Amino acid sequence: MRIYDAQRRILVTGGAGFLGSHLCERLLAEGHEVLCLDNFFTGTKRNIEHLLAHPRFELLRHDVTFPVYVEVDQIYNLACPASPVHYQHDPVQTTKTSVHGAINMLGLAKRLRARILQASTSEVYGDPDVHPQPECYWGKVNPIGVRSCYDEGKRCAETLFFDYHRQHALDIRVVRIFNTYGPRMHPNDGRVVSNFIVQALRGQPITVYGEGAQTRSFCFVDDLVDGLHRFMESEQAGSGPLNLGNPGEFTIRELAEMVIRLTGSRSRLTFAPLPADDPLQRRPDITQVQAALGWQPRVQLEEGLKRTIAYFDELLGQVPTLRPS
Ligand code: NAD
Ligand code: UDP
Ligand code: UDP
Repeated sequence: MRIYDAQRRILVTGGAGFLGSHLCERLLAEGHEVLCLDNFFTGTKRNIEHLLAHPRFELLRHDVTFPVYVEVDQIYNLACPASPVHYQHDPVQTTKTSVHGAINMLGLAKRLRARILQASTSEVYGDPDVHPQPECYWGKVNPIGVRSCYDEGKRCAETLFFDYHRQHALDIRVVRIFNTYGPRMHPNDGRVVSNFIVQALRGQPITVYGEGAQTRSFCFVDDLVDGLHRFMESEQAGSGPLNLGNPGEFTIRELAEMVIRLTGSRSRLTFAPLPADDPLQRRPDITQVQAALGWQPRVQLEEGLKRTIAYFDELLGQVPTLRPS
């Protein structure tokens, strides 16, 4: 038995990434032991260096596509590159990470009878015909396109989670995360919020793809992590899937203009072709998660952007190589 009944040993895969590092921090603050597993494909030691000396924090360099034998009470499975630039870099590895990674983590959870949460994505809805997207919508995903390694990998992982639940009575939680942003996004991550902020701070052109009329809904990282934690701890909310995101919807052009205004940048917009299979619209229907967990996002886009801009401003100042050449 542990010293405190409520203290758990928790595995966070992808724990050195953007969302994972915030989650590790939150779980330590709740008094738990955290085992952070990562292969550092897109995550960095910098994201977790402030946690390395913590007595309840442990780091394991490992790839989830290989089996792992550890002893834990709960598993948050976040390992997977999330930015289109990164997940398309080695698409076969992306699918393996989602599918083999899910099998290994589910096998681990089955052996330990541990509760396991899967970080799924709004990408399972593809380029949606239904707007906003409720959990009951099955999605419109291209199975053979350049985004499919991520979208279909995550869909298959959801299938595996629900089959382990039905076949092995595993205690699962599946969340579909919508675009989330905040401090510790990688400056070269390629996602829209980090790209626009870094470009604005450097005075470089802001790269809008297409005409910038496509929409996204942006959730601040603290809200998202709170939703993950509440769902994991909830006994009543069922297995999901549950959407987690901020229903505020903005065009990419509106986002670009807001970033320019908040940074006081002189950057101008520049337009590049829309990438293949880029969804035209995306907004979460959060009715279910509000009812199940009483969760809703608190940080609105302008406030969250200010905090993220402050982070990048400091980072670009500290790391000269990230400054423009
Ligand atoms: P991220 O790229 O910052 O973090 C992913 C982490 O997983 C990195 O630390 C990376 O090194 C690690 N990783 C990748 N492949 C691995 C492997 N095979 N074995 C072990 N570790 C591996 O991305 P993020 O934004 O923090 O996303 C975390 C999770 O949330 C991902 O599963 C992603 O699909 C999901 N998600 C994120 C968003 C978002 O907007 N941030 C939206 C939807 C879903
Ligand atoms: N597995 C793991 N750690 C464990 C238990 C299982 O990594 O503690 C992996 C193992 O590689 C296995 C996979 O999880 O292939 C699926 O396990 P499961 O028990 O569901 O299936 P099986 O072992 O029968 O293939
Ligand atoms: N985008 C853009 N400029 C950039 C990066 C992205 O206009 O420098 C667009 C991209 O085409 C997409 C939206 O912003 O329509 C969100 O892109 P991101 O890669 O952040 O996430 P996802 O497409 O996975 O939602």
